[in-house]
Amino acid sequence: MTTRRTAPETHPGTRPAAFERLRRLPVVGRAMDWGLGPSAVSPETKRAGARIAGLKATESVCPYCAVGCGQVVYTRGGELVNIEGNPRSPINQGTLCPKGSASRQLIQQPGRLTKVRYRRPGGTEWEDLELERAMDMIAERLIDSREAGWQDVDHHGWRVNRTLAFAHLGGATLDNEENYLIKKLWTAMGAVQIENQARI
Ligand code: SF4
Repeated sequence: MTTRRTAPETHPGTRPAAFERLRRLPVVGRAMDWGLGPSAVSPETKRAGARIAGLKATESVCPYCAVGCGQVVYTRGGELVNIEGNPRSPINQGTLCPKGSASRQLIQQPGRLTKVRYRRPGGTEWEDLELERAMDMIAERLIDSREAGWQDVDHHGWRVNRTLAFAHLGGATLDNEENYLIKKLWTAMGAVQIENQARI
């Protein structure tokens, strides 16, 4: 635990005017304030105010990896303005790695893909697909794979009632409830290869 240095207590009313004028010189003021306090703030900075002043702050979790760093998400009228590390999180204590620091780009990166992209078998070009159509195609392929790869018994003749034709790999941003439901769904469909990125 480090102890933060604070500026020594001062009593401006007891000082002569010449001393106060001298103190207002930046180099003198900063030396007397130990580099902290009001003398360390320029008039421009004071005028501009804090970048996050007046914004709505919402606590969240970084979506990228299994470390699960806490974030504070700042919004103005529902519009994302800033994301930074949450000092209340015991995991990251206000810090974020470079990837987590850039997580605002997950929403506001101009090059971000916002449509499903599909390259059909044998195709050489990507096509846009409506989300609903893409979901239907995934469901059709899943059912076909399950039926084509279903095993009642294994090669020893033991009953297994499973398919090795598909597997599921979850991401680190899935929470406990989502993982629970995913495991239930895929096990019910007969999958045995069900993993999560956080365990690998
Ligand atoms: S800030 Fe970095 S280390 Fe923390 S959860 Fe996000 S990606 Fe992982």
